[in-house]
Amino acid sequence: MGKPTGFLEFERELPKKRPVEVRLKDYQEIEAAPTDAGAKTQAARCMDCGIPFCHNGCPLGNIIPEFNDAVYDENWALAYDILTSTNNFPEFTGRICPAPCEASCVLGINKPAVAIEFIEKSIIEKAFELDLVKPRLPKKRTGKKVAVVGSGPAGLAASSQLNQAGHSVVLLERADQIGGLLRYGIPDFKLNKGVIDRRLKVMQEEGIEFRTNVNVGVDIKSDELLNEFDAVVLTMGSTVPRDLKIEGRNLKGVHFAMEFLSQQNKRVAGIDPVVDHRGSEYVNGQIRATDKHVVVIGGGDTGSDCVGTSGRHGAKSVTQIELMPIPPKERDASTPWPNWPMMLRTSTSHEEGADRHWSINTKEFIGDEEGNLVALKIVDLDWQKDPESGRLQMKEVMGSERTIPCDLAFLAAGFLHPQQEGLLNELGLAYDDRGNVKTHLYQSTTNEKVFAAGDCRRGQSLVVWAISEGREAARAVDEYLMGESFLEAKAVSMLNPDFAHA
Ligand SMILES: Cc1cc2nc3c(=O)[nH]c(=O)nc-3n(C[C@H](O)[C@H](O)[C@H](O)COP(=O)(O)OP(=O)(O)OC[C@H]3O[C@@H](n4cnc5c(N)ncnc54)[C@H](O)[C@@H]3O)c2cc1C
Ligand code: SF4
Repeated sequence: MGKPTGFLEFERELPKKRPVEVRLKDYQEIEAAPTDAGAKTQAARCMDCGIPFCHNGCPLGNIIPEFNDAVYDENWALAYDILTSTNNFPEFTGRICPAPCEASCVLGINKPAVAIEFIEKSIIEKAFELDLVKPRLPKKRTGKKVAVVGSGPAGLAASSQLNQAGHSVVLLERADQIGGLLRYGIPDFKLNKGVIDRRLKVMQEEGIEFRTNVNVGVDIKSDELLNEFDAVVLTMGSTVPRDLKIEGRNLKGVHFAMEFLSQQNKRVAGIDPVVDHRGSEYVNGQIRATDKHVVVIGGGDTGSDCVGTSGRHGAKSVTQIELMPIPPKERDASTPWPNWPMMLRTSTSHEEGADRHWSINTKEFIGDEEGNLVALKIVDLDWQKDPESGRLQMKEVMGSERTIPCDLAFLAAGFLHPQQEGLLNELGLAYDDRGNVKTHLYQSTTNEKVFAAGDCRRGQSLVVWAISEGREAARAVDEYLMGESFLEAKAVSMLNPDFAHA
């Protein structure tokens, strides 16, 4: 334990955010860079609990008290080793994770939790600064070839782990750049894309082959894939968005959130925003929110990113509406510590200005004579618990129907499942009840050579879960190929740093 009285002496403090009026003018990250002194003070707040619930709250099983201690001792090399023993990409999670570890931190019971995510980001940024992040080459190659399909965090983590185990990995991606939603979903103001490129360079030096513009199922057929590779890992994401099939859906100005967000990330990268994102349905001309009344339908992360992006475009107004009731302002009794709390969350984009409303249903998109969206017809909802099932049921509030001005609407109501037509159907895979790839311990239930991880297996989720799943799937593949695996999803490289097959 770094400083036994640290949690009594120091307050939780995070780096300053750039002022709203400044950050709305660009797409740079919002938070100032971490400082060594700030990280040390925050690490000093860790109580090194006998039972560290933070460790359990993290889907990766990050060994948090140990890296906090190393940061307090300013031993960055040790902190980096501990952190990367469980997490391949702390530079992503350190920026955009909602930090379930912090929600289960013991200090959080009666004081603000330890700033674990900030400490994580500090460690990895310091490691890059000190040139500690070196390519790790496997001692020996196994001669086995593995294809990983889809280059989001799950595919990247699986590739990294499989390569460490000595297999030859080819990562196939239909988009023109590697990164999945890190690249073409999450805005630059949350995750600067240079952070992805910096990591990809290391992975390439480690021997992983990236192939972009390859729509697997179209450019490479499923039988070719199975013939050419000893195993296939599907990490294709949950890419089918939930639609809102009401009157006026085809008006000009109604778009899926992802059409808007991926275009903007391309603009920032200097790539033509409407260039064909191969195999994707998100091609619909330039979408600009400038001087528009924007309404974002859906209250989650994707909706929040549309709010921040619309603000940067210079929208006339930004309104976000959500079907469900407003969550409690504080942790509710239904989700007690150390569970992930169901509560109202205000993102940096919300801080920049948005009119947020809950318990609202959209009934119709209203257009003008030229087919342009001009308004939304909405209605208030009353949510009540059904006494028999205990489930919430909604009822429209009589007389609350009204129209609000809207010339750009973004559908941000989540994603249903991976795209089934094409590769998945050709492979003859089974699906679970929600349409995701059905697996037993990450191995497809219908083809033993095929594995799946991330959003295409578990449904839409988080980057930290995608990394965790990618690691777990890599272990399952390694076991399938070699009969045993020295890869461990959680914490093993500390115990077993040289885990390529001998
Ligand atoms: C707008 C938005 C914001 C988000 N913000 C956050 C956040 O702040 N924090 C957080 O933790 N999570 C966030 N998430 C969720 C997070 O991004 C996902 O859970 C995560 O990226 C899933 O990773 P994945 O690797 O499973 O899939 P993805 O990242 O979706 O990657 C799948 C990849 O597979 C490729 N692919 C699909 N089919 C094929 C094919 N046939 N051939 C070749 N390639 C193919 C796709 O092009 C894509 O690149 C956000 C999600 C969205 C949509
Ligand atoms: S639960 Fe919080 S205080 Fe306890 S070890 Fe983890 S980070 Fe430190």
